[in-house]
Parts: sequence; structure tokens; C-alpha cells
Amino acid sequence: MKKAPRGTRDILLQEAVKWQYLEEVFREMCFKYNFTEIRTPIFEESELFVRSVGEASDIIKKEMYVFKDRGGRELALRPEGTAGVTRAYLEHGLNHRAQPLKFFYFGPMFRYDRPQAGRQRQFYQMGIETFGTEDPAADVEIIKFTADLFAKLGFENLSLQINSVGCPQCRPSFQDYLRNFAREKESSLCPDCRQRMQTNPLRILDCKVLSCREAMQDAPALDSFLCPSCRESFEMVLKLLQALQIPYQVDPCLVRGLDYYTKTAFEFIFDALDTQNSLVGGGRYDHLVESCGGPYVPGVGMAAGVERILLAMEKENLWPAEDAPDGIFLAIDDPGLRGEGLLLLYQLRAQGLKAETDYLGRSLKAQMKYAHRHGFRYVVILGKEEKLHKKLKLRDLLQGEQQEVSPAELLKHFKS
Ligand SMILES: [Zn+2]
Ligand SMILES: [Zn+2]
Repeated sequence: MKKAPRGTRDILLQEAVKWQYLEEVFREMCFKYNFTEIRTPIFEESELFVRSVGEASDIIKKEMYVFKDRGGRELALRPEGTAGVTRAYLEHGLNHRAQPLKFFYFGPMFRYDRPQAGRQRQFYQMGIETFGTEDPAADVEIIKFTADLFAKLGFENLSLQINSVGCPQCRPSFQDYLRNFAREKESSLCPDCRQRMQTNPLRILDCKVLSCREAMQDAPALDSFLCPSCRESFEMVLKLLQALQIPYQVDPCLVRGLDYYTKTAFEFIFDALDTQNSLVGGGRYDHLVESCGGPYVPGVGMAAGVERILLAMEKENLWPAEDAPDGIFLAIDDPGLRGEGLLLLYQLRAQGLKAETDYLGRSLKAQMKYAHRHGFRYVVILGKEEKLHKKLKLRDLLQGEQQEVSPAELLKHFKS
């Protein structure tokens, strides 16, 4: 028998209910914050990701699913959501509309990585993006959205880490400084970091290898290199977070894995997950639209890993109480009455109720058992005897009560 490919999973039954719950809470929050949905293709030209995510990043170098289609086009399964949204923003000329524009997405992403708990090769992200404003209040809105989302889900022990990663004005001098600093420690750095020294020295700061951490612990902080614009923006973000009473920690080593971030970068950390403890990452990407071939359009957003959040919810036991039994099971005890029975079934459904019947010719007793096991609250029994008296039996499995009603009374009963 075939199995799902390594790094992919089927989401079904009770687990699917949990996914739906999370997605609903997210969509509700998006509605309140005025983010509207955008659905972009799951594959794009690979060039889009190379230009936006950055050639030197692990995602592009090691993890992206790249393939040629039958027409010889170089395509890639999207490894993240922002690049596609940005491409769509430009392609549809949305920069000519009144700004800012705010979008959300929820969907599968793909990275070739070693599968582990909370990390699949096809994984899901939900994210929000605001295009067209440099206002630090837009950064804070993304953060507040995320804090509200987690509060709504019932999380209490998340910490917000924040930093400014600078901009093309101020970052290069810091990178030079950091490169020189790292060169002196080269013998203690891991092979990845030795390469990062050339390509993206900032990433050495968030390497998880212990010897790299120790070597870099006295590294200079980007903070002292920020240009006035970055500094002012960062100070305003922190000030607004304080005004909204959102606790945070400034983490000078927080640089994020993607090249396109500028100024604000943040993560929400859940300490109870030992590895993969970052549930959400986000920040400002003021030059992403340009690197996708467009004009200067500032932007800010966040992306959250759905599997990781579900894993964290599992750890904290944050599921809402299980649904009480509900819906109606129509037990037809005589094959000759199927027409009448089915008519009633569809009338109940037309009234907006969850209704079901038997499709396996089970005995009445077996139908009752099925209804109970599948969480139906009511069973309606239609048999010869009931037909004779023109009354159906309506049994409430929750209250353990039974009454006799005509079909018209039944429909009326469930109208209220
Ligand atoms: Zn700057
Ligand atoms: Zn390293």
C-alpha cells in the first residue's frame, strides 16, 4: 500500500476539526483588523524566490523544491508566502490604489528539510501583509494582531522578541564590521557560518551551533550602527508597544532568516517547545517590492507556522470544549419508506440542520448505535408502525426523552 510522501501528512477527522478551529480564529481576527484574503499559486517562477528571499539563504540554497515543467520553465513550489503576494501586488498594479493595502493568506508552503515534529516538507503558514506605509504603527498593528490571535487561542506564556535589522543605508557598515569580527573567530565557527561571513554575516548572529554562539557573544550590536531613520522608527515601535502594554524583549541577535527584512524584525517565542520554538516571525520589508522589479513600496508582515502552533496548543491543552452532540439522525426502519424518509431528510437539511441517514441497510438498533457514536443528538424513527399512526418518534439522546410528532410538527420543532 502506498504511503503519503515523506514530510507530508493527511489532516483528517478530529485533527481536521482542530485545523478548522485555528483557521476560523485567524480569519475572524483578519476580518476585525481589515486584512482581506489573497490566494496566490503554490508554484511561481523560481527566479521570484531567488530575488526576494535571497540567493544566499538556506531556503534557496538547500530547501526549495525547484523543477522544470514540460515547457522547460524554471519553477519552484513556494517556500514562503510573502514573495507571491508581492508579485501579485505588482502584477495587478495595486500600488496605484489608495494605500495601505492589507492582505492575509493561509495555505501550504514547501521546503525540502528533515521532517520532525512541527516541521513538514509540505507545511502550512498563515500570514498577514501590509503594503504602502512606513508608519511604525503599521509594524505595531502586525504585532498586536499576533498578540491578539494568541490571546484568543488561550496562550499565556509567549514572549515577544524584537530587534531592528537596519536598512541598506546602515546595514552594510555593520556587516563589514561583523565580518571582520567573525574573521578573527573563524576557527570557532561552523562551516555554514564561515560561508555566511562572505554572503550574509548577519546570519552568524542567530546560528544555533554552540561554538558559534560563544564566539559571537561579544559581537557588536547592530543597534549602535542604526541610521537616524531606522533608529527613530525602532524607538517609535517600542514606544507604541509600551502604550498598548505589549511586553517585549529587545534581542540584538534576532536577524531572521530571510534577506528581505529591514528595520523591525520580531518573533513570538513559545519556550515549552524545545526546538522550533518560534511560532511566528515577521518584520518590515521596505525593499522587497523593488527587488521584485517594482517601485519603492514599503511593507510589513508576519507569517506563522500552523503545525507549530497546533503543536504548542496541544502542549498547553488549548482546545475548546468538545462540541455537544447535535444534529439529527433519521432512522428508517422499513425500506418501503425510504422515499418519504429521504424527503424529510432533505427538508431538515434545507432548514439548515445537520441531518444524516443510514446507507447500509442496518437494523434499527444498529442505526441507533451509529447515531450515538457519531455524536448526533436526535434520532427520528420512521417505520411501519409510525407510518400507520402518521407520527414519527423523536428521541433526544442527550436528555433521554422521546415524543411522537407528525412530519410537519417535526420540521416546526427544529425551526425554532
Ligand atoms: Zn537604516
Ligand atoms: Zn554557525
